[in-house]
Amino acid sequence: MDHFAHRDGVLHCEDVALPAIAEAVGTPVYVYSAATFRRHARVFREGLAGVPRKHLAYAIKANPNLAVLRLLADEGYGADVVSGGEMARALAAGMPASEIVFSGVGKTPAELARGLDANNGGGIGQFNLELEEEGEVLAALAAARGLRAPAVLRVNPDVDAGTHAKISTGRKENKFGVPIDQAPAMFARLAALPGLDLRGVAIHIGSQLGDLAPLEAAYRRIGQLVAELRGAGHVISHVDLGGGLGVPYKPDDTMPSPAAYGAMVARVTDGWDAELMFEPGRVIAGNAGVLLTRVIWVKPGVVHPYVIVDAAMNDLARPALYDAWHDFVAVSPSGTRMVANIAGPVCESGDTFAMGRDIDAVASGDLAVFRTAGAYGATMASTYNSRALVPEVLVDGDRYAVVADRVTPETLIAAERVPDWL
Ligand SMILES: *Cc1c(COP(=O)(O)O)cnc(C)c1O
Repeated sequence: MDHFAHRDGVLHCEDVALPAIAEAVGTPVYVYSAATFRRHARVFREGLAGVPRKHLAYAIKANPNLAVLRLLADEGYGADVVSGGEMARALAAGMPASEIVFSGVGKTPAELARGLDANNGGGIGQFNLELEEEGEVLAALAAARGLRAPAVLRVNPDVDAGTHAKISTGRKENKFGVPIDQAPAMFARLAALPGLDLRGVAIHIGSQLGDLAPLEAAYRRIGQLVAELRGAGHVISHVDLGGGLGVPYKPDDTMPSPAAYGAMVARVTDGWDAELMFEPGRVIAGNAGVLLTRVIWVKPGVVHPYVIVDAAMNDLARPALYDAWHDFVAVSPSGTRMVANIAGPVCESGDTFAMGRDIDAVASGDLAVFRTAGAYGATMASTYNSRALVPEVLVDGDRYAVVADRVTPETLIAAERVPDWL
């Protein structure tokens, strides 16, 4: 459920008509609904009502805008971060350092040190280790500071998440985690290091999962691992179950609800006696945002016309990257339909959002949105073709604010230098 709906024939975000935002801010622009973010945050938490001890860390790579982080911090969410930059954002948004989980397969020693030194040396909440050498380096950095770094070992359960290959992370050939059969011996070696408080294990098998079965299989495997580690005398107080729950992109997509997910988790983890950690990203942010765009031209095509919009693959990369589907809806639909290709202005054939799609009929100058663009949208934007970095607007009831400026080519040019020997 989201708060984007047509009222009197005009698409609104909550109580704000989208043409008003297009007029004031220009297009393309991401528009987010605060009420939708809050609702998703609450529904996800309520879904896990059957889990006695839990920690919710929003995976901020899905949408790291400071205003979004502030809103989710107010909902009691911490952050799952995958870079020093994301850690800086979470802290800048006022998320408590102790609520921050640092994931990622390539954390540099400098980033690990920043995690330890955050919060005036109090450090962040947890490091999710991806390989043994990383654990050794973190242990040494912590010991040099007289600390024990709270950490868990990310294991790769070798489960096929059944999602797009580029967002699948839990198969043994993927780069993430340590092979589950090597985990017990590695855990024992790392747990012996004085600089580490190795307190559990983590998994994250992929994103946009439309089926609970692979998650359940992965959770059962990690449950067996926890039992094995405890049998070997280790204290396991934390198990991080990652994120990955999918969202509907097409009107007829059916996705497991947070309630169904939570019921599965409660059933599978019954008796684990550990704090369970969750890292939802897309399920919180996906349907909370749209990319508002204006049609530049409708260009006649050989088979179908091309609707050329002012948003492009640099603003919303998912169709070019993952062949992703984003619903395309006219802001003021006329009631007639057309079959068209939808493309942006970038000089790449891959800058195509849809081919032969049945859509609201549009003409030059009309406004439209790509729906379900709140996650992995603006955060992946680039300035390719010397296009501006797309701005972001947050709507809350009848108010809205620009929460990220449009970064223009002039600003980008000002950051470049021609050396004086040219
Ligand atoms: C990307 C990521 C997530 C979030 O995944 P979603 O599919 O957006 O829920 C969670 N944990 C880790 C480690 C990730 O890399």
